[in-house]
Amino acid sequence: MSVLKIENLSYVYNPGMPSETKALDNINFEIDEGTFVGVIGHTGSGKSTLISHLNGLTKPQTGRILLDGKDIWKDYENIRDVRFSVGLVFQYPEYQLFEETCYRDIAFGPKNMGLSEEEIDKRVKMAAKFCGVTDEMLAGSPFDLSGGQKRRAAIAGIIAMMPRVLVLDEPCAGLDPEGRELILSQVKRYHDETGGTVILVSHSMEDIANYADKVVVMQNGAVYKYAPTEEIFRDAETLAKMGLGIPDVTKVFIKLREMGVDIGTDVYTIPYAVKTLLKYKAKKEAEKNA
Ligand code: ADP
Ligand code: MG
Repeated sequence: MSVLKIENLSYVYNPGMPSETKALDNINFEIDEGTFVGVIGHTGSGKSTLISHLNGLTKPQTGRILLDGKDIWKDYENIRDVRFSVGLVFQYPEYQLFEETCYRDIAFGPKNMGLSEEEIDKRVKMAAKFCGVTDEMLAGSPFDLSGGQKRRAAIAGIIAMMPRVLVLDEPCAGLDPEGRELILSQVKRYHDETGGTVILVSHSMEDIANYADKVVVMQNGAVYKYAPTEEIFRDAETLAKMGLGIPDVTKVFIKLREMGVDIGTDVYTIPYAVKTLLKYKAKKEAEKNA
């Protein structure tokens, strides 16, 4: 059974006002437990509005969100219980750090869950270690941290709740390549080590290509496509035409094909590019020798 199901979800901001904006237009898809799902689309395509529904932060105007087959607004006693299962890391989560120490910030979620002091302490230390937050950083103010460190501390606060579904809204926005890599590899490790479900919103095809099992492509508030990553990239030329930045390595293969090289363009990671080129080379050599 799917862990999350989004059913006929539509959403309009400021209904009936001149500023009325249709943000979501009949979204339907479901996510199997343990899947790493990438959500991609232009700014304004509805990504943030969509994921704010997944943990009950936004209430559907039309449609339903099902967690383990149960309507999060009808079949759960308290929406808080849903929030402990579906952990949402907002865009720029560092703005939500507010405690005196980093430790207390990370402990905030587990405390709300009503865990014992001992369990809270264990969770904070586990999450801090996981996110590269040192003991020294834990003892200090979150406001003394660098941008990337703050971001990691904020993510640790969600990880400390050990959510079954970890949802991140553009967690790498504004970070340098090193900071991006750090965060993405932590998210990947969370996925691999806990077997949990991850939903990663990004406008970087490069990030999605390297980590996601399946991809949701959003366009104008609707799901343009939802498919396994390799299937999404088989259609890389269409994505490029939509103006979604496709990975550089994919661009190279599209160019090669345009130049008349008989080669697939569904290449989106470096290891797969190497494999494809070696295969192509072997094929050409076999043709020459035949
Ligand atoms: P994305 O995360 O893909 O950039 P959003 O979900 O933020 O997309 O936005 C979808 C649409 O809803 C856009 O047209 C955006 O301008 C509009 N929108 C988002 N938040 C609000 C809001 N608080 N009030 C009014 N309109 C909004
Ligand atoms: Mg957004």
